[in-house]
Amino acid sequence: MKCLNCNSSEVIKHGRRKTHRGFIQRYKCKSCGYDFIKKDKYFRMKNSKYKIEKALKLLKEGYSLRQIKKKMRGISHTGIMRWNKKFTSD
Ligand SMILES: [Zn+2]
Repeated sequence: MKCLNCNSSEVIKHGRRKTHRGFIQRYKCKSCGYDFIKKDKYFRMKNSKYKIEKALKLLKEGYSLRQIKKKMRGISHTGIMRWNKKFTSD
C-alpha cells in the first residue's frame, strides 16, 4: 500500500469507515499526513459510470424503467432503481 498523494510506503491503517456496502479500510500517510481509503472492489461497479449516468438522465427526463431497459441493453430494473436511490438521495 502506497500513499496516493506522495507515493510513500510509510502508510498506516487509520480506522474503518462504515458504509452501506460494508467497512472500508482507511489509511493515513506518515510522510505527508494524507488520509485516504483504499480503492478496491467495493468501488468497482459492474456498469460503467457513463451507463449509470445515462440511465438516470433518461429517468429524469420522464422515461419509464421499461423504456430505459429497452434503450439500453444489459441493465436491470433493480439496477436502475438502486442507482437512482444511491446517486440522487445523498
Ligand atoms: Zn503521503
